Amino acid sequence: MTSQSPTSSSDSLSLAQLEQTQDFIRRHIGPSEAQTEAMLTDIGADSIDALIDEIVPSDIRLADLPAIGDSKTEVQALADLKAIANLNKVNTSYIGLGYYPTLTPNVILRNVLENPGWYTAYTPYQPEIAQGRLESLLNYQQMCIDLTGLPLASASLLDEGTAAAEAMALAKRVSKNKKSNLFFISEDVFPQTIDLVKQRADMFGFDVVIAPANEAPEHDIFGALIQYPSATGQVSDISELIEKIHSNKGIVAVAADIMSLVLLKAPGDLGADAVIGSSQRFGVPMGYGGPHAAFFTTSDKYKRSLPGRIIGVSKDTRGNPALRMAMQTREQHIRREKANSNICTAQVLLANMAAFYAVYHGPKGLKTIASRIHRFADILCLGTATKGLVSIHANYFDTLTFNVAALENNSKEEIVERALISGVNLRSDVDGQISVSLDETTTRSDVATLFTILLGTNHGLDVSELDEKIIACGHSSIPASLIRDTAILTHPVFNSYHSETEMLRYIKRLENKDLALNHSMISLGSCTMKLNATAQMIPVSWPEFANMHPFAPQDQVVGYKQMIDELADWLVELTGYDKVSMQPNSGAQGEYAGLIAIHKYHESRGDSHRNICLIPASAHGTNPASAMMVGMKVVVVACTKDGNVDMEDLTAKAEELRDNLSCIMITYPSTHGVYETTISEICNIIHDNGGQVYLDGANMNAQVGITSPGFIGADVSHLNLHKTFAIPHGGGGPGMGPIGVKSHLAPFLPDHSLVNIIEENQGNGAVSAAPYGSAGILPITYLYIALLGKEGVTAATKYAITNANYLVSKLSQHYPILYTDPNGRVAHECIVDLRPIKEASGVTEMDIAKRLIDYGFHSPTMSFPVAGTLMIEPTESESKVELDRFIEAMVCIRDEVRKVESGEWTLDNNPLHHAPHTLADITDANWDRAYSIADAVFPVPGVRTNKFWPTVNRIDDVYGDRNLVCSCPPIDTYID
Ligand SMILES: *Cc1c(COP(=O)(O)O)cnc(C)c1O
Repeated sequence: MTSQSPTSSSDSLSLAQLEQTQDFIRRHIGPSEAQTEAMLTDIGADSIDALIDEIVPSDIRLADLPAIGDSKTEVQALADLKAIANLNKVNTSYIGLGYYPTLTPNVILRNVLENPGWYTAYTPYQPEIAQGRLESLLNYQQMCIDLTGLPLASASLLDEGTAAAEAMALAKRVSKNKKSNLFFISEDVFPQTIDLVKQRADMFGFDVVIAPANEAPEHDIFGALIQYPSATGQVSDISELIEKIHSNKGIVAVAADIMSLVLLKAPGDLGADAVIGSSQRFGVPMGYGGPHAAFFTTSDKYKRSLPGRIIGVSKDTRGNPALRMAMQTREQHIRREKANSNICTAQVLLANMAAFYAVYHGPKGLKTIASRIHRFADILCLGTATKGLVSIHANYFDTLTFNVAALENNSKEEIVERALISGVNLRSDVDGQISVSLDETTTRSDVATLFTILLGTNHGLDVSELDEKIIACGHSSIPASLIRDTAILTHPVFNSYHSETEMLRYIKRLENKDLALNHSMISLGSCTMKLNATAQMIPVSWPEFANMHPFAPQDQVVGYKQMIDELADWLVELTGYDKVSMQPNSGAQGEYAGLIAIHKYHESRGDSHRNICLIPASAHGTNPASAMMVGMKVVVVACTKDGNVDMEDLTAKAEELRDNLSCIMITYPSTHGVYETTISEICNIIHDNGGQVYLDGANMNAQVGITSPGFIGADVSHLNLHKTFAIPHGGGGPGMGPIGVKSHLAPFLPDHSLVNIIEENQGNGAVSAAPYGSAGILPITYLYIALLGKEGVTAATKYAITNANYLVSKLSQHYPILYTDPNGRVAHECIVDLRPIKEASGVTEMDIAKRLIDYGFHSPTMSFPVAGTLMIEPTESESKVELDRFIEAMVCIRDEVRKVESGEWTLDNNPLHHAPHTLADITDANWDRAYSIADAVFPVPGVRTNKFWPTVNRIDDVYGDRNLVCSCPPIDTYID
């Protein structure tokens, strides 16, 4: 290398130009300046702004950039957030109530939670390139089946509270006590769960009775919810109680603690019909309330009623075992208002972490952990008892509750005070009581500290001596009848990977089977698979955020509150609403919360009869499913052949139903990918007829900075932070679905029974177990906005639209684009119509989706919102290079279809029919295809240097649904 001359060209640059490498906006946005110029030429637009002016109706354009501050550098944004995080005070938490400190094995922390190979994947809609997370989710289901003693599990729900509410809904569906409308909740269920189930019951129109568990048989009920162990820690034999409820035709759901189940008899073996709970303490940080995976198991006969997604075993075209989501027909897209639940995005990443935790520790390791927790509880119990402080329950697992009202010389206040001085939080929300829940992180010295806190100094207790006494007397605080006598986790996967090397490689092996954003673009329409920048992910595992209990005292969560408040202010600004609630932990939960606000608003005006919800035919399936959950009646509004809402039909229905009109649920821009010019008019029509406008914000990526739902005239929206605002999809969750509302709906936002989250708490009830939903992932969205600033978030929207229109400019030469505006433009996504191809050639949308895998791509959204189509959303983060690779694949596939059309290839011997191609195909000695191996697996040259190999051939959905298996196959099926 020659040495640089002292007058290199950089000398002529300004300092601002020299600082440009730190600019985050150009890292987030895919196309470079030169690429943008080239794309605009193809699109036929002079500039991005000219293109946007052409596409977005002028009457909904904002005049100014949103007031959210300027873009920050990564260094600055992280430093500023760290300063906020430092305002949190992370105490040692013994609060319990479903949230426990845990030790995330570092091999899982770094290689799953912090690994884009796991966190940027989508819900496994293309199972041939998702076998890794499907296997892990099957492990999760097997773990839940073993621990709960019921044979059918789903692959995660949103949290324990909502899982309990889903269990109530299942009980109503399957109970033989058809005439009963009453649900029983044991009074020692976690308070936040009671709160949530009551709310859900209220909306469904069920009656609820809350009383001591043993009173359940006295009521004529369709179902009951019992906690095992109870909120105050009691372990009791509930089998007789369950039997009595059964004899009255009631269904029994048991909320169980997953760690206790390692030692305790499984609720399924005690007669439970459904078992729910949180898997958080299996290695998932508390995160101030979430995200965590809830589990749900039930008996085989209720398989058609199970909420959420189930992973099932099927086979591929070679007859090999292959996994996929089972019984997909039950999802909201097809069943709509008849769906079992509105759950869409769930908690896949966290379910995977919990499953890996079980794989890592195995049955022996888990037993050691659970036994250690229990031993420490025994030591604490014995020690305090010798000093006269006696636990109110003789039988417990990890939680001790003490009556401290009657103590002499040791008041509850003094205990709490000593705890806080020692940096310790106890549960103290019940009058006269203190509870202590121990966990995996508890040590001998922690127990010694607890003695001092509970008893004061000079107690003279010694942990080791107490331990010896416990061993010597052989006393057990778990009744013999409740000690588990069935084996758990006997499957090889839980007994094979206990060295870190083996574990690391198992995680990697599964990761390699899955196509995620770190391999190629995932252009799933309506899902907004944009960049999840690494800088945005880093604070998620900072201890100040990760290790916070959701019910920690308010003065310990100052940092969280500041971050949440600032973020809420930004979202208010970006949505044009007046207030935001952070509680809903998915888009569908946001819909539910928003519809409740509408319902309560009408009720407050004496209009509780307003129960009709208009929904355009193009709506996402969660819309009608959510409307059903608040007891609304869905009336479908037609769409015109151009894909727009049929204004005549809308007007007619709004007027005809005006006396009972509650609201419309409308997505904007619609899932058809165009900005309807009539949106403001639609809002007016609904308002004129006494209704409210729920604008589904899933497509906010086409609005941010250039228009807003509040400005358009809507009353309430949810935002999918896991779409527009950069939270990664995690392979099917987590997500966050905060809602924004106009001021008249603000009094009806969710609140929380344990934490005061809104000033004007009206007893509205909660929609999530934790006060701020999955608060632990809010730093991602916080940083997304801080890093982009007002210029960046607006540029993101403009580039999302530009990229979509670039795709249209190229693809429309080969495929019909289903809906465009009169100028041939689309919004941020477009629908490619494959029905003419199918008609002419017999090649299906499924063939094309699977063939894209051979080209290294995940298929766009298939058959939603229109059957026989692909909906493509490129997002702003994809460069022209990547878009061109995708276009090349689509164009080549079109040429392949032509060969079928022309008869050169028959319908059952062509690369589309056999896609995706695997190593098993090309190493098969009898290659008898009408095309070459090279054409099968390297259809374009670029694939050779970046090949993604699917690990199974095309999967047979029907076979799997007819033969539902949702547990790990026995080992002999793998021996071939
Ligand atoms: C994704 C989506 C939803 C549901 O959001 P989840 O977070 O998956 O519950 C609702 N509506 C539309 C249009 C969507 O794209």
